[in-house]
Amino acid sequence: MYAIIMAGGMGTRLKERTGAMPKGFVPVAGVPVVEQSVRKLFAAGIEEIIIGTGHCADWYERLAARYAGITLAHNPHYARTGSMETLACCASAVKRSGSGGVILLESDIIYDAHGLTALRNDPHENAVLASGATHGGDEVYLEQDGAGFLTGCSKDPGALTRIAGELTGISRVSKATLDAMVACARDSANPALDYETVLARVSASGPRRVFVRVIARYLWQEIDDESHLARAEALAPAIAESESLLKIRREVLLNPGPATTTDSVKYAQVVPDICPREKEFGAVMAWITAELSRMAGGDRENGGEIETVLFGGSGTAADEVMISSCVPDTGKLLVIDNGAYGARMAKIAEVYRLNFEVFRSSGFLPLDTEAVKAKLLEGRFTHLAVVYHETTTGLLNPVPELGRLCREHGITTIVDGVSAFAAIPIDMDRDGIDFMASTSNKNIQGMPGAAFVFCRSAALKAVKDYPMRNYYLNLWDQYRHFKNTMQTRFTPPVQTLYALRQAIMEAKRETVAGRYARYSACWDVLVRAVKELGLEMLVPEAAQSKLITAVIEPSNPAYDFEVFHDTARARGFTIYPGKLAGANTFRIANIGDIQVPEMERFTRVLAAYITGLAHA
Ligand code: PLP
Ligand code: MG
Ligand code: MG
Repeated sequence: MYAIIMAGGMGTRLKERTGAMPKGFVPVAGVPVVEQSVRKLFAAGIEEIIIGTGHCADWYERLAARYAGITLAHNPHYARTGSMETLACCASAVKRSGSGGVILLESDIIYDAHGLTALRNDPHENAVLASGATHGGDEVYLEQDGAGFLTGCSKDPGALTRIAGELTGISRVSKATLDAMVACARDSANPALDYETVLARVSASGPRRVFVRVIARYLWQEIDDESHLARAEALAPAIAESESLLKIRREVLLNPGPATTTDSVKYAQVVPDICPREKEFGAVMAWITAELSRMAGGDRENGGEIETVLFGGSGTAADEVMISSCVPDTGKLLVIDNGAYGARMAKIAEVYRLNFEVFRSSGFLPLDTEAVKAKLLEGRFTHLAVVYHETTTGLLNPVPELGRLCREHGITTIVDGVSAFAAIPIDMDRDGIDFMASTSNKNIQGMPGAAFVFCRSAALKAVKDYPMRNYYLNLWDQYRHFKNTMQTRFTPPVQTLYALRQAIMEAKRETVAGRYARYSACWDVLVRAVKELGLEMLVPEAAQSKLITAVIEPSNPAYDFEVFHDTARARGFTIYPGKLAGANTFRIANIGDIQVPEMERFTRVLAAYITGLAHA
């Protein structure tokens, strides 16, 4: 899904402001208008924004450096060409022709984001958004035929017969239509053409007709001169108010997943009904698996080969897939158990009657790597299963160190990365991980319902002939079926996968390192407050993941987790009870779409409750 912003123009009517700056950088309500547009497009599910630059292109270079997902296309002849030439420069950067089409935007407009939703939901191949009368002073009128399709455009209403409304500068076209526009412009050999003139010509000559989608009271403003700018400032609060109607009540989840999501991820679930056997949905799943593979270290250009296999299910489903599918009858598995999730993998191995042993270790002290090594070097084990991040307590296990050791000794590694992936930087090749499980609702910040198993290709091929111990959760069968058909064997969680696609785009823009830095900053705030309150943490700081913290409960008999929970919940924070048997803790996770100021607010809720106990 692409958007193209045409931003080549000189903005001569705003001369004082735009002599050394492109028009898109004029601020309205304190934010450059093009940056407002970029944020709205990304929130609406656009993966890549192509900006056609001209005048003062360096401003756009700096913008592109701040927002991953922006590509620039320069129009070197911007001073003597029209917007169509800039659009043509961008068109070749549109590589795929996704079913979502390409959103076309002018750079110098502010607009209500609902317009993007209206265009996305419009059933026609192409649609141009028109408003009622604005009396803006530089209106471009759109003419439509009896069926509502665009037949002409002009600033002179007298030149048109059936006027539908005013051009807002927002359209959606298919790649085929975009290509037809480029061809039409080339044939006309007039470099000064506006894109809207070409759009109208292509539409009028068929077969690539453009529907005129009229929203009579649409909130938008073009900014060509000072009077427009004043109108834009006056309109900005109304646009903000309209968009605020979409905002979903904020709940900050401090439980270890499902994690807090952005509104854009929540809204990504709202899609037209679709049969998951359609090619279009297969392409969504193929995109998801390719991007997830890349995030786990699989980057084909650099030789990394990771396959991601999707299942409907929770994180435990992915664990069960690995344990049941990746150990042959002749193999012997060592399971490290230093928390509830290690114990769970051992339980799964028991249910499937695998040949396995458990290496038990403290739930809160760092794993004794030397002891694990000694055990592995006894030579009896072919497979090792370990939890990367024990969410039970927040203990981080030394997976890269174990992984490298296993690789040296030909031992296959099975890693529960459910609560580590997309926060802890992982490269399965570098870290010696053969199989790794994760899920859509933790650090990737999507909705619950999709489980995935990352596989190093060579390790995956080896499981092909292993016994099929179950049906739904069989790794090879699911992999092979998707490879051959671009479909999962059974009904996938369709809406969850659309949300996951948006979540992946947002994770890519933040980067895994950036995400871990944000999580760590929230953890710093929490830990500082915990220490100031004289509370103790279960796990030594150096062994903590910085993703969840187990805090030892105060000994004061007035302490009551339920009361604490309800107090926090009433203030918008959901906290979590402890899990480790034998230690009384509560747990505060700091994963998901949470920000430092929110964690600061939570620490005040925490402080109020804990200090209040002294007076109880
Ligand atoms: N493994 C780990 C490390 C986890 O943290 C969790 C959930 O918190 C799971 C597995 C199980 O995930 P689910 O509850 O989605 O089955
Ligand atoms: Mg204008
Ligand atoms: Mg303009």
